[in-house]
Amino acid sequence: MNHFSVSSLKTFARCPREFHYRYDLGLESLEKGLDLEFGLFTHFYLQTRFAGFDFKDSIGAAQVNTPLSDYWLAIAKVVLEEYENLQDIGAHYQPEVVEGSFELTIGKYRYKGTIDLLANRGGEYVLVDHKTTKSKDLSAFMDYRTFDPQLQLYAYACEHFFKKPVRKMYYNVIRRPLLKQKNIEHFPQFLERIRDNIQSGGYFAEIPVETNDLLQYQAICDLNEYADMIEMGHRPRNAASCRSFGRACDFVPVCSGEVENPELASDLYQVRVRK
Ligand code: SF4
Repeated sequence: MNHFSVSSLKTFARCPREFHYRYDLGLESLEKGLDLEFGLFTHFYLQTRFAGFDFKDSIGAAQVNTPLSDYWLAIAKVVLEEYENLQDIGAHYQPEVVEGSFELTIGKYRYKGTIDLLANRGGEYVLVDHKTTKSKDLSAFMDYRTFDPQLQLYAYACEHFFKKPVRKMYYNVIRRPLLKQKNIEHFPQFLERIRDNIQSGGYFAEIPVETNDLLQYQAICDLNEYADMIEMGHRPRNAASCRSFGRACDFVPVCSGEVENPELASDLYQVRVRK
């Protein structure tokens, strides 16, 4: 039986050619880019924080695992302090499962994935998926949420693997500040300006994502079809996906013809060690 990670199928749904580079060839970009670094740091922070560690230890753990430069570490601390103040996470969610991995056989395929957070809120289970963005415009998340097969499969896994059925899901969105330090401004003043800007709103959002049996069934059908297409060897490009959520695909140089063979472009890509 073939195994698929849900994130690989999500990549295939976004662009089959990107799936080919990432999963057939195992390539990953050497250049992470600030957006991804900030996203990984924030994700690790939230994972550690919801696992029960305090703010300082969670920041420290994130910095060890997904390090930022000193400049961005100071900014991330301000963002996450304000996240704690404004979102009141302790009151919001009582964690039940943090970074919970699952494997499920559905039809002829076995799917594996990792949920960010399954929590109890007000006596009911809610599923939370952490997201970071640099865009003020959250409409991309709003548009996408109805068709997010990953989250629907995670909801299915909550019921059938973790035995905690959810009927409410949320994107927990944190925005990276784009403010620039002015010439006349000392760094602590700059950080305070960021703090003021965050307090004026628009940096954090909890976007509800609907789930029910029909939506989960449709998502599973989609995932099965993606898996079928992978097996059949379909790998077309999808130009509509070259830039999404404000970020360019790592493989633009390859698809645009600048790089002829990504497997030989060792200054741009490395082969991921398969687990
Ligand atoms: S650059 Fe565009 S077409 Fe090429 S792999 Fe990435 S998303 Fe697909």
